[in-house]
Amino acid sequence: MSVNSGENQVAKRERSKIEYNLNYLLIMEYYVAQKVKDEWGNKPCEHPHLEKEYYGGAFLINWICTQCGKEFTIAQKMEMDQDKKKIQRENP
Ligand SMILES: [Zn+2]
Repeated sequence: MSVNSGENQVAKRERSKIEYNLNYLLIMEYYVAQKVKDEWGNKPCEHPHLEKEYYGGAFLINWICTQCGKEFTIAQKMEMDQDKKKIQRENP
């Protein structure tokens, strides 16, 4: 048994711990979003407050409405921001 293989075991354990935590967060976020959606139902929503939603780290970021649980891509969020600015310009 070399020292190196022992270190690899520790690294492996640490990595699987991190992967477990990421999966756990992913499932939790999915669960919370699903719960919000179920509670809100099909009511119309103005999506007054969007929050960032991270998927398993930081590579895939979506926005989620905290009121109805609807998810938006970054592009959709940007479009909505532009629409809001347009409305503000037209109705000062
Ligand atoms: Zn909404």
